[in-house]
Amino acid sequence: MTSHPAFAPSHVAVITGGASGIGFAAARAFAEMGMKVAIADRDATALRAAGQVLATLVGDDNVLAIETDVGRREDLARLREQVLARFSKVHVLMNNAGMQPGSAIFGPHEVWERILAVNLGGIVNGSQIFAPEMIAHGEPALIINTGSKQGITTPPGDPAYNVSKAGVKAFAEALQHELRNTEGCRVSAHLLIPGFVFTPLTARGRIEQPAGAWTPEQTVAFMLKRLAAGDFYILCPDGETNRALDEKRMAWAMGDIIENRPPLSRWHKDCGEAFKAFVARG
Ligand code: NAD
Repeated sequence: MTSHPAFAPSHVAVITGGASGIGFAAARAFAEMGMKVAIADRDATALRAAGQVLATLVGDDNVLAIETDVGRREDLARLREQVLARFSKVHVLMNNAGMQPGSAIFGPHEVWERILAVNLGGIVNGSQIFAPEMIAHGEPALIINTGSKQGITTPPGDPAYNVSKAGVKAFAEALQHELRNTEGCRVSAHLLIPGFVFTPLTARGRIEQPAGAWTPEQTVAFMLKRLAAGDFYILCPDGETNRALDEKRMAWAMGDIIENRPPLSRWHKDCGEAFKAFVARG
């Protein structure tokens, strides 16, 4: 498989949420390609451990592990300064840090503000802060933004997370539109849409990986393959949901508007059977 040209030995990758799960698996995969990696995370202990693992792959000089809260724009600005001071350029920015503490429509406004600041603000600010240098250096580069299927089909149960991830989708689409219309720009943006991945975010007390989940490594391998193919929407399957089923769910969600059904009709008592029949039609 030919990889995307942004991935090359001595190129530089910055991964937020890089101390755990999908971000750490990505950092390892990039390091295994001989890239210099900067991981940013708010969890200092996990960050230190992850940095040590990465150093065994590429050496101390080629790893930065920087405590960062992506919910704070000034932290991301400091991250950029430190990365450029050490590595001069950035070829891959993976805006990946995210949290899912749970939320309710009429829940505390502090919870809403924090989820939006981290999951959405982290991606908007990360892109705004890093992209100008990535465009200016003129070499092929990528901005990968981690979204979620919950930002597309917006299932009931965690509205703040859904709103944040719907925002990530809208931002990433607009970012890619902007980049492709920027003269001489060799940076492209992408939306990573993981399936069910077994990580601390989804473990919820489980120690063993559920049968339906993918590993972070499977997710990153899929991401690299789809980036090589040039996909913007990197829609990952998992052990329980294939692409065909995802397509049905997304089409049904969009159909709520087109068919003038109630919102979230998939979960509405009068429409649930119609959704099942729609899926069964194949
Ligand atoms: P994870 O918990 O293993 O990793 C997330 C990392 O982000 C952690 O190391 C955490 O400390 C860090 N983080 C959280 N808030 C931060 C902040 N304010 N600043 C800096 N770092 C912060 O979870 P994961 O599953 O690998 O999640 C990675 C991304 O994938 C998230 O954006 C998540 O929403 C998304 N996602 C995950 C799944 C899944 O099934 N695991 C599905 C869809 C989307």
